[in-house]
Amino acid sequence: MNIHQINLNQLKGFETPFYYYDLDLLNETLSKAKSAADKRGFHVHYALKANFNDRILGLIQEKGFAADCVSGNEVQKSIEAGFSASQITFAGVGKSDKEIVLALKHQIFAFNVESIQELLVINELAKENGVKAQVSLRINPNVDAHTHHYITTGLDENKFGVPNSELEKAAAVLRGCEHLELLGLHFHVGSQITDINVFKSLCVKVNEWKNWFEERGTAIKVLNVGGGLGVDYYEPDAHPFADFEAYFEVFDKFLERTAQQEVHFELGRALVAQSGSLVSKVLYTKSGVKKNFLILDAGMTELMRPALYQAYHKIEKLGTSENDKSLNYDVVGPICESSDCFGKEVSLPESERGDFIAIRTAGAYGEVMASRYNLREEIRYVYSDQI
Ligand SMILES: *Cc1c(COP(=O)(O)O)cnc(C)c1O
Repeated sequence: MNIHQINLNQLKGFETPFYYYDLDLLNETLSKAKSAADKRGFHVHYALKANFNDRILGLIQEKGFAADCVSGNEVQKSIEAGFSASQITFAGVGKSDKEIVLALKHQIFAFNVESIQELLVINELAKENGVKAQVSLRINPNVDAHTHHYITTGLDENKFGVPNSELEKAAAVLRGCEHLELLGLHFHVGSQITDINVFKSLCVKVNEWKNWFEERGTAIKVLNVGGGLGVDYYEPDAHPFADFEAYFEVFDKFLERTAQQEVHFELGRALVAQSGSLVSKVLYTKSGVKKNFLILDAGMTELMRPALYQAYHKIEKLGTSENDKSLNYDVVGPICESSDCFGKEVSLPESERGDFIAIRTAGAYGEVMASRYNLREEIRYVYSDQI
């Protein structure tokens, strides 16, 4: 059920703030993504870091997605949620020995490796544990994602991936690692990418690197092109779904591959963002000399994206009537930080203490980033079928 269809009296039964998850929308999103990928023979891993809420993860697992993890605990969580080890990839620039051993013991599908040193460490730990590990090399494709610099990961100056100048050496090192098997190549250029041309540029780079390895006699079985597909934070109701068809079509059209080569994706945000809203109540209203403030009971401790990278989220008052007068508000939280602000000069129907405010498109990188700063309460969530 869309958040605007909920009867406010029903919302009053739940203590705010809480995440509201629209499971129907989530289901529909997952179906669209899955069928667009399936018909092209593509494999989609869900990037758990976007949201690992139990029911959300359960639905994603049931739909047949694989898992993309960035910590040992995420690997463990995926196993517990029912993903098979053969569906799990483990990425990240700083995997600890303990995390690597956990993943080796589960015999996961692949490690996405980010440096030569990491290759050697995984090889050593695999040897100690008497197993062989499948690895993909993360290559930094130097493609500008045209997104916020904090969520750009594919440029030469970023910390991610094996530097291009070291790939020759990495290939040689791999040949000497008896406990590693090279599965393929891994790329990820950034997040919240809405310009489809970025993915076209990525395909060009992937083709180049694939050829580069094949020319040197290294077989590439898997091309993992990462995630990053963006969603519409401005008009969540007009555009509740990312354009999965157009997205997968670009790769289908521009990625050179044989029938045996698998193409893997790692989508996070595009699968879950629109299904979540942060529901909050107005605690106080304040009128300064130049400003009106709405002080909410939710803050950066519940949704950090605006404070962390100046992210925009649509803010709406729930249950408004058409003739309400509008005012411009700075919508802020209760945390003792000036960056604890959800939006400045937001036009909203005149609001008062006790009104419900929804912060939309909060299903990705919302609940998972919640913190206990200021000793705030544990994060709460409500699923649409509880209302
Ligand atoms: C974060 C991340 C993803 C998911 O990114 P989205 O923008 O949420 O799709 C995929 N792959 C890697 C390696 C990541 O770090």
